[in-house]
Amino acid sequence: MKKALVTGASGGIGQAVAARLCRDGYHVILNCFHSVEAAQRLCAQLNAERSGCAEIACADVSDFAQTEAMFRAAGDIDVLVNNAGIAQQKLFTDLTEEDWQRMIGVNLTGVFHCCRLALPGMIHRKAGRIINISSMWGQVGASCEVHYSAAKAGVIGLTKALAKEVGPSGITVNCIAPGVIDTPMNAQLDAETMHELAEETPLCRIGTPEDVAAAVSFLASPEAGFITGQILGVNGGFVI
Ligand code: NAP
Repeated sequence: MKKALVTGASGGIGQAVAARLCRDGYHVILNCFHSVEAAQRLCAQLNAERSGCAEIACADVSDFAQTEAMFRAAGDIDVLVNNAGIAQQKLFTDLTEEDWQRMIGVNLTGVFHCCRLALPGMIHRKAGRIINISSMWGQVGASCEVHYSAAKAGVIGLTKALAKEVGPSGITVNCIAPGVIDTPMNAQLDAETMHELAEETPLCRIGTPEDVAAAVSFLASPEAGFITGQILGVNGGFVI
């Protein structure tokens, strides 16, 4: 059975991606960091649907040693979904060195760690799929989220460069840039703000985690075998 590792599988988008990949027939490794109970609930639910299709791996992806231990235990990975991420809204002039390092550490260095650890096996087998979750704010920039936008733009650059480097080894590297998606990451936004964001969206709604999971499923599928280095907007037309 093909194996997929989804980082941040305890959160909104990660849970939907993990569930979708399980239903697509993968054995899925659910990475989590703080929210172990949420990952355990999902793991139990998925294993009840198809026995043995999911397992949990806790690691802080910004920490190389923890991430390395997770990959060593996981074995060969066919599909890596780099989804773990944090958000923070702050004026640029209020950002501290610690804010900056934490944001880059999780949202960009975490992607580096996971790609670095998954790729030797993929290169050896001359096959593999890497799907990075960036953000539309990495494409166009968000006010009061400069460090988030910089990290997510970094993920886009990493995706394009890595796709060129590992394409000859039969590996595709793509990126999804979601728009506003209804997850705990946006829990601090009030109902009025969410309504305004939906109104600003040409398709007139907020996205769902399942919208993103469907795009991941496609990019992982054989049908996407000639697609690499691409940034797929799942944003209802918010950024075109
Ligand atoms: P979420 O519900 O807050 O989930 C975030 C996930 O990232 C959680 O599973 C969390 O795990 C994990 N995580 C955070 N720090 C981690 C670390 N150091 N190591 C390992 N895992 C870590 O957010 P979401 O909306 O699903 O976001 C998923 C991805 O989509 C993120 O990369 C985000 O930037 C991106 N995105 C989201 C939106 C949106 O509107 N929601 C839009 C564009 C892009 P624990 O809770 O277990 O620590």
